[in-house]
Amino acid sequence: MDFFSLCEIQKYLREKKISPKELFDLYLEKIKQHNPELNAFLAVNETVLEDINFESSSGPLKGIPLGIKDVFCTKNLKSTAGSRALESYVPPYTATVVQRLEQAGALIIGKCNNDEFAMGSTGENSYFGSVKNPWNIKHSAGGSSSGSASAVAGGLCPAALGTDTGGSIRLPAHYCHLVGIKPTYGRLSRYGMIAYASSLDQAGTFSRTVEDGALLLDVMSGFDPMDSTTVKKPAPYFQKNLNSQIKNKKVIYFDLEGFEGSVDPSVQKAQSQCLSLLKDRDCELKETKWPFLEYGISVYYLISTSEASSNLARYDGVRYGHQSQKRAKDLQEFYAFNRSEAFGPEVRRRIMMGTFCLSTGYYEEYFHKACQLRHLIQQAFDELWANADVILCPVAGTPAPPLGVKQDPLQIYLNDQFTVFANLLGAPALSLPVSFSEDQLPVGIQLIGKAFGEQDILDTALALEEDLKINQQRPHGF
Ligand code: GLN
Repeated sequence: MDFFSLCEIQKYLREKKISPKELFDLYLEKIKQHNPELNAFLAVNETVLEDINFESSSGPLKGIPLGIKDVFCTKNLKSTAGSRALESYVPPYTATVVQRLEQAGALIIGKCNNDEFAMGSTGENSYFGSVKNPWNIKHSAGGSSSGSASAVAGGLCPAALGTDTGGSIRLPAHYCHLVGIKPTYGRLSRYGMIAYASSLDQAGTFSRTVEDGALLLDVMSGFDPMDSTTVKKPAPYFQKNLNSQIKNKKVIYFDLEGFEGSVDPSVQKAQSQCLSLLKDRDCELKETKWPFLEYGISVYYLISTSEASSNLARYDGVRYGHQSQKRAKDLQEFYAFNRSEAFGPEVRRRIMMGTFCLSTGYYEEYFHKACQLRHLIQQAFDELWANADVILCPVAGTPAPPLGVKQDPLQIYLNDQFTVFANLLGAPALSLPVSFSEDQLPVGIQLIGKAFGEQDILDTALALEEDLKINQQRPHGF
């Protein structure tokens, strides 16, 4: 049962083939067995069954254990964001999306490890150590939602919550053979989500199937008075409306020549395979050029670091954050001691870069320019959407890299070239497992939709999922 989909588990629970306690114990056992190696969970909520009254819930997730990335605040449960700054932070409230999952009957089984403040692509930037990929423990599980992906891929929980600012759900999903969905900006509340870059951050899901992802989005979506960027749209019924009849759907793809670094043959093959399946389903396929491709990474890293430098200013060691034991001679030094001990090298690098971009004299040259370009990118994609429903492209150029090899920050940033656009556009995007490379590492594909066009990408993904007949779900030894 540990590798069942959410929907299958839901059925088993409803038919009383298993009790919530038995199910919970099964996952707890898996966590005990594999977490020391994977480092996917930072905290396990062993007493949740006694602590909350889930029996009274009649929601669709009743009795289903879920993992939650540690950037979501959970009342009375430590929420560290993978940082020493919040090593002992216990929030007094729960993030809206987590609350909605709980109201639907879900059991938060634990908090998942992640790159510090969601900054990273390899799962190696957490203060609490690197996360391993269950498909090959010498390889990265991706980042920044590394623990959520590793936990679901290893069968330690059936689904998990992550966040995606520039690819942090889609990349780990691609590396770990999972469905990873980042919905439209504004679809899910960010209230209680520890901020990295507020105009790009969005919560999303890791699951084994497209339908499971749709179900979770249905539960979490909708306006939240605590987040003024959530939209007042009627509740979606993604799961109910799922439809793999995608005849005539207009799909755009790109020639993979000209992308930064080479695109691995396994990734090219996955793209061709999906395109030919879509052709068989009578979709209208069109090849085109990726607008402003060469600017995506620069624009993303200028905007995200600028916003991060402002968001992370709150960790001063007074109201929030680690407080140094060293005796400071004045307030400046007090802040300097606190913050230099609290943050790891990548977070410090980004705070410095962002502060520079926003500083007098450079603001116009960097931050302002990046915002102008973001606008041009949005206009260019609006033109593309006039004749398209879905974009199909890689998630990243390669399958999961070995841990420890990617040292150069710029090299790591470039790995995000296919994912950052969806965030700059606020568009929904997902990653779908497709195949395995020669080294038996998972390879996924990305589908991007227009804003609030989740149903288009979910339906297309469902059709591909049916045709690909993905049945290899259990990594060796798990
Ligand atoms: N890899 C990207 C970064 O480090 C994306 C992170 C994210 O989506 N949270 O900024």
